[in-house]
Amino acid sequence: MPAHPILIAGGGIAGIAGALGLARSGRECRVLEQANAFETVGAGLQIGPNAVRALKLLDAWDSIAPTSFAPSAIVIRDGRSGRILQEIRLGGEFERRFGEPYRVIHRADLLAGLIARATAHSGIEMVTGARVEQSADKGGYVEVTAGGRAMRGEALLGADGIRSAVRANLLGDSRPELHRHILYRALTPVEQPLPAKLSAVTLWLCRNGHVVHYPVRGGSALNVVAAVNGAWTDQGWSSPADRQEVMAHFTRVDQDLFQILAVSSPWLKWAAADRAPGAGWSRNRATLIGDAAHAALPYLAQGAAMALEDAVVLSRCTRQADSIATAFLAYERLRQPRTARIVRDSRRLGRLYHAGGALRVVRNALLRLSDPAGFLDRLAWIYDFDPAAA
Ligand SMILES: Cc1cc2nc3c(=O)[nH]c(=O)nc-3n(C[C@H](O)[C@H](O)[C@H](O)COP(=O)(O)OP(=O)(O)OC[C@H]3O[C@@H](n4cnc5c(N)ncnc54)[C@H](O)[C@@H]3O)c2cc1C
Repeated sequence: MPAHPILIAGGGIAGIAGALGLARSGRECRVLEQANAFETVGAGLQIGPNAVRALKLLDAWDSIAPTSFAPSAIVIRDGRSGRILQEIRLGGEFERRFGEPYRVIHRADLLAGLIARATAHSGIEMVTGARVEQSADKGGYVEVTAGGRAMRGEALLGADGIRSAVRANLLGDSRPELHRHILYRALTPVEQPLPAKLSAVTLWLCRNGHVVHYPVRGGSALNVVAAVNGAWTDQGWSSPADRQEVMAHFTRVDQDLFQILAVSSPWLKWAAADRAPGAGWSRNRATLIGDAAHAALPYLAQGAAMALEDAVVLSRCTRQADSIATAFLAYERLRQPRTARIVRDSRRLGRLYHAGGALRVVRNALLRLSDPAGFLDRLAWIYDFDPAAA
């Protein structure tokens, strides 16, 4: 057993899942979270079959499933006319096709489920109020200063999100890339029983923007995210925005969509950003996981899923390799191509969702004419993925 625990900078989904994965491979870990409590902020996350599979492999699904919501379908509608362009039913046939269900969940509920598993594990120590300020690889161990306290670790896992300080220190690279898209989100209580048309993951394609909504919190609240073209460079996740600002982007839209936007509040906004794909995020005893390694725009809804898959692959590599540095390199080699494709395809999807003119007409026609089975086949590379077999 190594003399020091693996230190993990960041207690978001990647950090806690990473700790669960490393603990499963017999390593002791210490999670260092800068906030004074594990963050219960954020809004909805989509948990496709690949993410459910990863959660099961981390032995965390049982503590998460009860707070997730099973949407009835994925529905794509034209924002102006309301016309349904594509509809994928998410019941039994979908689950037989991909081997696992499709769920949606509030970020806080997913995090709470992971934390419940981590705190129950004797090999995982969870520390809050511990911002990682400095880190250095000393050859045989790493030295980290967090919350004013110096400590040693066998290795360092940077799970500190898109604006990762560990990444900046390790790779010396710059800020994330901004894409001139503003994202607004709101979480609004909904009447019970939940109306059938609100029980689906619904994507509205509008001029210069799109809206996604689905229920979370056991179906008691609707998570609404609206993305529009525009410049906004603030770095946080949660700047306040007012309803008029959001509505001004969606003036001529279908009545159903107008109603949803008009009753949603309060609104928060953040700037769409990602990291250009690149190799080389592991250096000897330090590596990155989740958004710190490969942040993507949210349009494929795979941010949390990639972090969970990372954790399973990291666990496997750590178990199999004869040194931590070899394990980190193997992990990066396995994860880089897939996460790079998610980053690139998310960018492409952002352009397609916000298309105008002839491209918009062609896009809508193709969506209408695709049969649902063919549509799903094009997503199979995402949903079929098994991190235990990769
Ligand atoms: C507050 C917040 C709200 C979010 N809301 C949404 C949302 O509504 N919808 C959505 O799709 N995605 C949201 N995300 C992003 C989503 O959680 C991630 O894309 C995905 O889950 C991958 O998570 P991650 O753990 O890699 O990064 P993150 O979720 O960003 O977690 C990083 C963690 O590291 C901590 N941290 C940062 N720097 C340091 C440091 N130097 N030392 C110690 N700890 C540090 C942060 O406090 C945070 O807990 C949100 C993220 C955050 C932090």
